[in-house]
Amino acid sequence: MRIHFHGAAGEVTGSLHLVEAAGRRILLDCGMLQGSPEQEARNAEPFNFDAASIDALVVSHAHIDHVGRIPLLVKRGFKGPIFAQAATADLMPIMLLDAASLAENDAERANRRRRPGIPEIAPLYLREDVTDAMAQVRPLPYDTRTTIAPGVDIAFRDAGHILGSSIVELWADGKKLVFSGDLGPKGTPILRDPTPIAQADLVLMESTYGDRKHRERMDTVRELGEVFERALAEHGNVLIPAFAVGRSQELLYWFAQYFDAWKLARWQIFLDSPMAAKVIGVYERHVELFDEQARAVWQHQPLPFKLPNLHISQSIDDSMAINRIEGGAIIIAGSGMANGGRIVHHLKHNLGRRNAHVVFPGYQAQGTLGRRLVDGAQWVRIHGQDYRVNAQRHTVGGLSAHADQSGLLAWYGQFEGAPPLALVHGEDRAREALAGEIHERDGREVFLARPGRFIDA
Ligand code: ZN
Repeated sequence: MRIHFHGAAGEVTGSLHLVEAAGRRILLDCGMLQGSPEQEARNAEPFNFDAASIDALVVSHAHIDHVGRIPLLVKRGFKGPIFAQAATADLMPIMLLDAASLAENDAERANRRRRPGIPEIAPLYLREDVTDAMAQVRPLPYDTRTTIAPGVDIAFRDAGHILGSSIVELWADGKKLVFSGDLGPKGTPILRDPTPIAQADLVLMESTYGDRKHRERMDTVRELGEVFERALAEHGNVLIPAFAVGRSQELLYWFAQYFDAWKLARWQIFLDSPMAAKVIGVYERHVELFDEQARAVWQHQPLPFKLPNLHISQSIDDSMAINRIEGGAIIIAGSGMANGGRIVHHLKHNLGRRNAHVVFPGYQAQGTLGRRLVDGAQWVRIHGQDYRVNAQRHTVGGLSAHADQSGLLAWYGQFEGAPPLALVHGEDRAREALAGEIHERDGREVFLARPGRFIDA
């Protein structure tokens, strides 16, 4: 069995690995690169393999950096089945249709500013391409071994990262590969903890936060409470860039749990994301995947997705109306790294305000507006215009959807005999730190995946 690395190998986004085994070619993920315009331009480049030669695609979870290039793969000739856990299969079209809309809007905006003589930019793919690709999806439940091609079996195990997120076990050629996908930390709201796996001949593990220790969840609760308290005293707004899948729902779950402690009745809460609203529907269809605590919360009032002062905005007009509010609004909107979507408009209106607060509950990749804000930029350029940043910024680490260094060490530590390990999905600093820790603890040399390299199991 040979694994070729084509993406999320030395960076966090664009997850794409090719497994050659049993005479078959299986892709693990087909994600989009996210970050600076230069990085994102690479999404349109040809794949390093013939899409038509791929027998099957296995998807770890519905985040766009894991599924975002699937419509392109299909457009370029991939005709095989796409295997995904059932909730992932429900989330994927929502994510991809949104990505197609964003791509269409971006292309339109770029074409409007285009200088004479420069050719028109075509969107990466269209909504029709998404619909075509989704016809190839085959949903699978967790914990069920399935033959996906002659000589190749897989099973999905709960990765505790977002709803439907999976660790992939893959058997072929008498060997077993375990691909972690993205691993959640223990105790992620609503979700179960990542499944421990005992045996593997080779492990591909993510390393997003390989060099970090998350803050304690209860510290984050306290911190969020303080932000709301300060913003209320200052009559400001609170903006929360959040992924429509996972983070937005978790925030509402926390809001329900701490509704009184955080005095949330005194706010107007906006979930400004038609996509997050659709995702809520998927959560409600997959309550069987919730952990026990979440099932208990769902017995109580207020219900997380039906808070009495929650407004879910659908239309652009609804969204623009929020821009007129100068204080007392909590606004949750995508994208999670503020490199597109409705949050960007809310930032434009609020960044100049000293009493506005921006809370970053998730990872901010290099090159994104979110990262520049987190890094303390005093001025930021949005849609070709410069904005002064007076708003107060808060990074709340305890809400991360990714395991931190101790979580990654613990998950890998559950394998018997410290099997060979390749680190993917992490910037070098993070994975070098993690590789060092693993070498020290287990005496295992760790392989750092790079684009164009391969490893044999
Ligand atoms: Zn993810």
